[in-house]
Amino acid sequence: MSYVDEIYAKVVEQNPGEAEFHQAVKEVLDSLRVVIDANEEKYRKLAVLENLVEPERIISFRVPWVDDKGQVQVNKGYRVQFNSAIGPYKGGLRLHPSVNQGILKFLGFEQTFKNSLTGLPIGGGKGGSNFDPKGKSDREVMAFCQSFMTELYKYIGADQDVPAGDIGVGAREIGYLYGQYKRLTGLYEGVLTGKGLTYGGSLARKEATGFGLIYILKEMLTHNNMELAGKTVVISGSGNVATYAAQKAQQFGAKVVAMSDSNGYVYDPDGIKLDVVKEIKEVRRGRIKEYVDAVPTAKYTEGKGIWTVPCDIALPCATQNELNLDDAKALKANGCQAVAEGANMPTTREATDFIQANGILFMPGKAANAGGVATSALEMSQNSLRMSWTFDEVDAKLHDIMVNIFAKADDAAKRYGMPGNYVAGANIAGFEKVVDAMMAQGVC
Ligand code: NDP
Repeated sequence: MSYVDEIYAKVVEQNPGEAEFHQAVKEVLDSLRVVIDANEEKYRKLAVLENLVEPERIISFRVPWVDDKGQVQVNKGYRVQFNSAIGPYKGGLRLHPSVNQGILKFLGFEQTFKNSLTGLPIGGGKGGSNFDPKGKSDREVMAFCQSFMTELYKYIGADQDVPAGDIGVGAREIGYLYGQYKRLTGLYEGVLTGKGLTYGGSLARKEATGFGLIYILKEMLTHNNMELAGKTVVISGSGNVATYAAQKAQQFGAKVVAMSDSNGYVYDPDGIKLDVVKEIKEVRRGRIKEYVDAVPTAKYTEGKGIWTVPCDIALPCATQNELNLDDAKALKANGCQAVAEGANMPTTREATDFIQANGILFMPGKAANAGGVATSALEMSQNSLRMSWTFDEVDAKLHDIMVNIFAKADDAAKRYGMPGNYVAGANIAGFEKVVDAMMAQGVC
């Protein structure tokens, strides 16, 4: 059995019930096969893959808090510190009822390669809880965040592990978490990113993941003799990533015609009005179906189905495994030419294979959504320097980083005889740097 197949079999056996983690490992290992096979003896002796697929540490803890009725609630909390070969652990905190250890391991594993691709000194980590902020009062969210941090603060620090936001964690949650960290430690340091602008946050961090997605999409299109201007775009989700991807796509002259949330999607043939989406989602914390109250010419459809809306470009920006094989076939039938992943692993393996086999350009999440964590690293730099860069300075650095990520993925794919396969290219380029650093630091 090849080294790759042996390690994948071990991952499945030793991490039972963690389907998303298995899926993420399989996708990465499959595309690394060509690199591993060429160096099998060396990598086997150093157990490179065994080290790569095992988190350095998983912290799991109880999060008790009191709701508005005086009832004590208990949630599960986690931090997966996956790999610190190239820098302090870095990755978001997710608050969603679906959160479990397997999902956070998949996210931490992916994050390690993504962070490597940015070219910045950040390792891979991820954390979160099965707490659902939806429908909770501000006081309840604060109580939860304070309890969560009362345990987590022991394991994080500006040079140790720097969490950020993810699904369900925005500026409000980061503020409550930061306040509690400061109370407990007495330290005013860049221990979290995505902070508010009045207490150490970076301009352009909020926009970074969505903007970065469009910068790399544009780069991919240009290298394949296509243009973004004039294209019809469908974006799933209506959260942080989706909103700012839509904004930047519109700035570049594309027309975004559909967005969604977990209840359904809106189709606006005249182009989505983002001020309406922002008012619903960022101000009122409402549902996307309210869009048709403000824009009666738009149509709301309950449930899944956003990928049946005809488009040139599809940007899945909601959650994992939200675009399956049937969705990919619908996109192809409707003439879709490019897919770029704003979310983490939103496209199933079967759908990814179909998309790539059918000549649709595909940019995987670990390259396409790396702008968020890259700008988080820029926030860390500003905190260390005790300086604030302007929006345009941060945005220009983000743009350069995304262009470089494209170049690295493109180059690695070409070096290994797979031009245009950005999945393989991103995985190989991310792997090369992490493994080089791991081997240089020795076994212990
Ligand atoms: P938000 O919480 O801001 O938004 C998530 C959006 O996706 C919401 O519209 C939400 O709808 C929808 N959604 C969540 N879960 C599901 C589901 N199970 N089915 C359908 N829709 C769902 O999160 P972000 O925008 O920050 O994150 C979106 C994705 O991007 C995630 O995969 C995240 O890991 C990834 N990402 C985020 C980065 C960031 O900087 N924020 C950086 C890199 C990656 P609803 O409100 O109904 O739940």
